[in-house]
Amino acid sequence: TQPPVNVTVTGAAGQIGYALLFRIASGQLLGQDKPVRLRLLEIPQAVKAAEGTALELEDGAFPLLAGIDIYDNPKDAFDGANIALLVGARPRTKGMERGDLLEANGGIFKPQGEALNAGAADDIKVLVVGNPANTNALIAQANAPDIPAERFTAMTRLDHNRAIAQLAKKLQVPVSDVKKMTIWGNHSATQYPDIFNAEVKGENAAQAVNDQQWLENEFIPRVAKRGAEIIEVRGASSAASAASAAIDHIYDWVNGTPDGDWVSMAVPSDGSYGVPEGLISSFPVVCKNGSYEIVQGLQINDFSRARIDASVAELSEEREAVRKLGLI
Ligand code: NDP
Repeated sequence: TQPPVNVTVTGAAGQIGYALLFRIASGQLLGQDKPVRLRLLEIPQAVKAAEGTALELEDGAFPLLAGIDIYDNPKDAFDGANIALLVGARPRTKGMERGDLLEANGGIFKPQGEALNAGAADDIKVLVVGNPANTNALIAQANAPDIPAERFTAMTRLDHNRAIAQLAKKLQVPVSDVKKMTIWGNHSATQYPDIFNAEVKGENAAQAVNDQQWLENEFIPRVAKRGAEIIEVRGASSAASAASAAIDHIYDWVNGTPDGDWVSMAVPSDGSYGVPEGLISSFPVVCKNGSYEIVQGLQINDFSRARIDASVAELSEEREAVRKLGLI
């Protein structure tokens, strides 16, 4: 049998962590033939709760789960990590300005970047889920100069999946008929879900919908504000769907995207589509042999251009703010 893959999960005692860990243990993160060792990171006050989750993981008797270790410091938690899922973050609390939020998260993601740099395995892949995810990923990446920048990614896969589901519902087709969905920009309310490059049963999705009113006033805001809708209806933020999207993100990155399709990942920009180099922005990507490439040559119409630019401008502002704080 193969040696286990070390998967470090931060915020392991949180609600996303609770949904995520069981799916990882059951083999859905990497594939059914790959044993995993879980390394859980929590803040000291939450270590006990993480230990409780570890007891339940043990009770799952998962054949692919080779072990669970729990840490309260990033240095040990990231030692030898092959995959790092950075879920724990400082949520925005009442009265908190964006600068305060970025600063509080800098206190988390800067030391985590440094710890990854010091101890992660050579093939480390990082996914940041904790918000503001794109800029948290940027902070971690900037503090890990020895790790190739492209190994740091942030999650827009939940937005991507939400967009597929809403489009499929509108056209009354199964989700599997929708291909080539793209989320551009920041994982925030400014994100832009693009159906102009998407396909439904091989037909252009925007043409199949043919309803600009729905696109502008229903689809885009619904996808961008779905998190708030979930909180309103469920009485708690989305957790299982976020965990599911994190699984999808890593699974596809490791195992490749299907032919004729792509996925959305927030990755360091190489300047493609006019996104300033280095910003961690969402793009359409194709994954193969454990790496990814930004899909090139897509048509961007004026409507899309304006929305992408607005979301990217927000990312530039966030980068400026964390630069001023000395976090990158
Ligand atoms: P959740 O597990 O619900 O969420 C964790 C993070 O994921 C939040 O930043 C949240 O952002 C973000 N997130 C991203 N996408 C989504 C989405 N679609 N829906 C919901 N959340 C999303 O938070 P909990 O408070 O339950 O748990 C957080 C845990 O992290 C706690 O146990 C805490 O102790 C731990 N923590 C660990 C740290 C560490 O390991 N060093 C550091 C900080 C915290 P948003 O708030 O914007 O929804």
